[in-house]
Amino acid sequence: MKTGGNRKRSMEAILLLFLPMLLFLLFPGKAEASSGISLTRTSLVLREGRSAKLGLENVEKKKWAEIRWKSSDRKVASISGGPGRTITVTGLRSGIAAVYASFGAETCLCTVQVGDGERVSSSTREILGITGTEDDFAAYRIDESVPSIRALQTGKRVLIVCGHGQGDPGAVSSWGQEQNYTREFGKLILWALRRSGAVKADLYNRKYNLYEQMRSTLSSGLRSSVRGNGKLKGRVLSALRQNSHIPDLTRYSYILEIHFNAKAVKTIHRDGRFYGIGAYVNSAKGNTQVESRIVRTIGSHGFKQWGIFRSSGLLNARICQELGVNYALLETAFLDDGDDMTYYNANKILMAQLTANAIVDYLAG
Ligand SMILES: [Zn+2]
Repeated sequence: MKTGGNRKRSMEAILLLFLPMLLFLLFPGKAEASSGISLTRTSLVLREGRSAKLGLENVEKKKWAEIRWKSSDRKVASISGGPGRTITVTGLRSGIAAVYASFGAETCLCTVQVGDGERVSSSTREILGITGTEDDFAAYRIDESVPSIRALQTGKRVLIVCGHGQGDPGAVSSWGQEQNYTREFGKLILWALRRSGAVKADLYNRKYNLYEQMRSTLSSGLRSSVRGNGKLKGRVLSALRQNSHIPDLTRYSYILEIHFNAKAVKTIHRDGRFYGIGAYVNSAKGNTQVESRIVRTIGSHGFKQWGIFRSSGLLNARICQELGVNYALLETAFLDDGDDMTYYNANKILMAQLTANAIVDYLAG
């Protein structure tokens, strides 16, 4: 295991996190002017080809004709229906624009984000068990400032598996239990994947531990003879079908299992050094593009890249390799390192978004 690493604040990360403030600087104007006039909404997210109404409030009816509307980028967001109190904004292509309403000396603005993928509906599907509630979605939606890749629906499926659980807490430190962190981070990645509109994302039932389900379903003879070369695929599939807690893994274009790492020498308190994010893949796996992107992009946002490692020992990785399914085990951060856990707690939504972006980028690209 490597140690050390500079704590580097990436300027880019800061810019992206403060996107609304940046937009305000790029497109000066006010959400609410001193005279009390304001827009019916200050931000809009639209799919390409979709429209929404935008209005200016607290302007006397006889002066509505004096309201001037403008889009900072008419190729991204067009406006129609002005002059007047209300206009229609239409998303034309992916990008960000500002729509201004000017009245006298006052200007109000609404930021418009246009994406080319389907918007995720707030109704959740229970495919494999717990997938969160409306409240979770509402809480997640607040963080619209994190950049999201939106793309056309590919029809491809992604499975997020939260490591440990079912009586196995995983790594434990004064920061808490691994099983709870994997369940939190897995859910954040799920929401980010669904928001992309590009893939169908499922969350493995968080009541269960996929490793334990696999281990108890496959005989020790079969477990030890699987090499990842596909020779025992039929036998593995028919064994797994006996367990209703294991979905058909071959339906998935990508499976990401979430874990948190632990090291022998613990620095529970912060000492200014990260251990970082990494991944394990099966030794026979060819393409590690997704894991490389996840680790690299999160590394470039101020965290440390721990590394990507091949192993023949991880059961779930070996079984997926045998089935021909693209799988990786993500070691999100070191649960027993104070610097890592401080970074995770402050940046988990960004980390989840970057993880989802890497998956979408690969599957939709
Ligand atoms: Zn683990």
